Amino acid sequence: QSLNVVTMDQTYPVWVGDGAINKLKELFQESFQSVTKILVISDENVTNLHKDVLVKVLPEQIDWKWHTVPKGEQAKSFAVFEQCISFALESQLDRKSCILAFGGGATGDLAGYVAASFMRGIPFIQIPTTILAHDSAVGGKVAINHPLGKNMVGHFYQPKAVVYDTRFLRTLPAQEIRSGFAEVIKHALIQDASFLEDLMTNLQDFQAMDEQYLQKCLIRGIEIKANIVAVDEKEHGIRAFLNFGHTYGHALEAKMGYGNITHGEAVMIGMMYALYLSKKYFKLTLDLHKFQNWIESLGYQLNISTSISFEDLFNAMKRDKKTIGQHVRFVLLKQIGEPVLVDMEEKDLLEADAFIRSI
Ligand code: NAD
Ligand code: ZN
Repeated sequence: QSLNVVTMDQTYPVWVGDGAINKLKELFQESFQSVTKILVISDENVTNLHKDVLVKVLPEQIDWKWHTVPKGEQAKSFAVFEQCISFALESQLDRKSCILAFGGGATGDLAGYVAASFMRGIPFIQIPTTILAHDSAVGGKVAINHPLGKNMVGHFYQPKAVVYDTRFLRTLPAQEIRSGFAEVIKHALIQDASFLEDLMTNLQDFQAMDEQYLQKCLIRGIEIKANIVAVDEKEHGIRAFLNFGHTYGHALEAKMGYGNITHGEAVMIGMMYALYLSKKYFKLTLDLHKFQNWIESLGYQLNISTSISFEDLFNAMKRDKKTIGQHVRFVLLKQIGEPVLVDMEEKDLLEADAFIRSI
C-alpha cells in the first residue's frame, strides 16, 4: 500500500507493507538513476538482524557503503554525527549521493540530520524498522541531542521516500512494540474517534495482533500525521497537536534517564496526564477508567518512581520548547479528535501529577 506526503517543496511516497522493501529497487531505477553513491546508516541491532535483507535490494549498478552506529539514543550525539560525516567524506560521497536511514527513530533522526548537513543537504530515504518510526520517519523533523536537551539541534528536512517493510517489525522486543504503539494511540486520540473505538474494541493483546491489523493501524497513523504536516510543516500551529502527551512524557523520560523507559511508554503516562486535565477543563467524555484498564491490559505501566518529585518534572516541563514564562503549554482534548493548546498553571499540573501517582 502507498500514500503520499505533501509538503511545501515536494510530495513523497510512503510504501507500507510486507515486502515494501522491494520498492527500493524500483525507486532507484525510476527516480534516482543519477545517484552516484549510497550510504546506509544503520544501528548495531538492525545491522545484525536485517542487513542481508537490505543488501539484497540495493541497486547493483550503484556503489554502496554501510556505516553502523550505536543503538538507541546514543546515536543522536555530536560525536556519532561527526563520525558519520567523516565516513561520508572518506567514502567520497558527493552532492548526488543518497543516504538510506535504516533503523528506528533514533537512526532516522541522526541519518536525516547527516543528510541535511552533508554538503548543505543530499537526498535521503527513510527505511524504518520500528513501530514508533511510523511517526518519526514521516514529517521531516531530523535532529540530534545536546547534553542540555533532546532534539536541540536539527532541521526540517523531508526524505525523498519512506519504505516501510512491516516484516522488519517481527524482531521487535515487546517493550518496543508498546513504545511504538503509544504513538498510534496518540494519533487516534488527537484526530479520529472511530479509530480509537476500533482500537479499544479490537486490540487486546500485542502478541496476538495479526499483521494485517498492524498494517492498517500504521497506515492510519501515518495518514493522520501526514495530513497535519501537509497543513503545518514547520510547526507554526496545528503540528503542535502531535505533542499530545509529550510535555509530561518528555519530562519523565529526561528524569528517569533515556534507556530506563522507552519514549512511547513515557508518552503513554503523559497522555493519561493530559486526558485527566482534558476531562477537568473541557468535560471530555472519554471514560478514563475504561481507557486506563485497556492500556494496562496491553502492558503499559503507569507508576512513577517516588524518587522523582513533581518539582523535578515541573522544572523539566518549563524547559520544554513550547513554554512561555511560568506557564506550561499543553495539548489537551476538548473531545477525542479535537485537540487544543492551553497554558497550564503550576497548581493544575500538580493536581494532575497527584492523580497519576494515585493510579
Ligand atoms: P530507536 O531507533 O532507538 O529503536 C529502539 C530500539 O529498537 C533500539 O535498540 C533499536 O536498535 C531497536 N530496533 C530497531 N529496529 C528493530 C527491529 N526491527 N528489531 C529489533 N530491534 C530493533 O528508537 P525508536 O523507538 O524507533 O524511536 C525513538 C526516537 O525517535 C527518539 O530519539 C525520538 O526523539 C525520535 N522521534 C522522532 C520523531 C520525529 O518526528 N523525527 C518523532 C517521534 C520520535
Ligand atoms: Zn513521540
